Amino acid sequence: MSLSGKTALITGSTSGIGLGIAKEFAAHGVNIIMNGFGDPEVIEQNRVFLESHDVRAVYNDADMTKPDEITAMVEVAEEEFGSIDILVNNAGIQHVSPIEEFPPEKWDDILAISLSSAFHTTRAALSGMKKSGWGRIINICSAHGLVASPYKSAYVAAKHGLLGFTKTVALEVAQDNITCNAICPGYVFTPLVESQIADTAKARGMTEEEVVRDVLLAAQWTKKFVTTEQIAGIALFLCSDIAENITGTDLKVDGGWTAA
Ligand code: NAD
Repeated sequence: MSLSGKTALITGSTSGIGLGIAKEFAAHGVNIIMNGFGDPEVIEQNRVFLESHDVRAVYNDADMTKPDEITAMVEVAEEEFGSIDILVNNAGIQHVSPIEEFPPEKWDDILAISLSSAFHTTRAALSGMKKSGWGRIINICSAHGLVASPYKSAYVAAKHGLLGFTKTVALEVAQDNITCNAICPGYVFTPLVESQIADTAKARGMTEEEVVRDVLLAAQWTKKFVTTEQIAGIALFLCSDIAENITGTDLKVDGGWTAA
């Protein structure tokens, strides 16, 4: 079955992995609801680029910490496109700090953006998917949904929770032609990661090559970053007919990190 003419809502798609998925889906004829923050000019350039694939792309600035804005975004999208066929819960932030110093408001934001927003989008989008008789939900989780690292308490807790949510949704809608899966990347080379390399090199007195090999990719056995294109390709695969029996699972794309 072709994905052409379907519609995907991708949270946090103004940058990195979300934008990569938006480009891949648009290239396969999928209309896109972009979401996330950033420079309005850059967002508009990316929106126009998506439309160069002969699809419609609209931007919605809903804040994933605000349930009302999330529900309104889904409603507007359904009015405009009929239904949301593909939902990608991707928005995320990080904060690194020991638990005693972890700001409670950062804990709340990370839980809201990386876990609760997936509940709010899914809750709002499911009835439309059931009505149309087809749906794909993809939660961008992390290797940190399966294993922990110190100083990332909120992120690890949120991503572990997101995996539990993924499995529950999968069971509830298993007979509705809707699948729900998580993709668990290791380190992906996004602007977010790129910007940490020079800073870490300076802070630790290391070369940038040493930071990449011994700090960022210490747990990634391939010693290679995952790319946004690889994650996008896997998201596309999960929307294909061949993947219709893959549901409630976590696809690890982590260079062997969680195999060790
Ligand atoms: P990124 O910073 O490039 O993109 C994050 C996106 O989320 C941006 O579009 C941003 O505007 C959006 N966002 C942040 N707060 C928001 C809010 N309150 N409301 C709406 N949108 C908001 O980061 P990325 O690396 O592309 O990360 C995307 C997802 O992938 C995240 O869930 C992250 O946890 C996950 N992930 C990333 C990596 C990695 O190494 N980069 C690894 C594993 C998992």
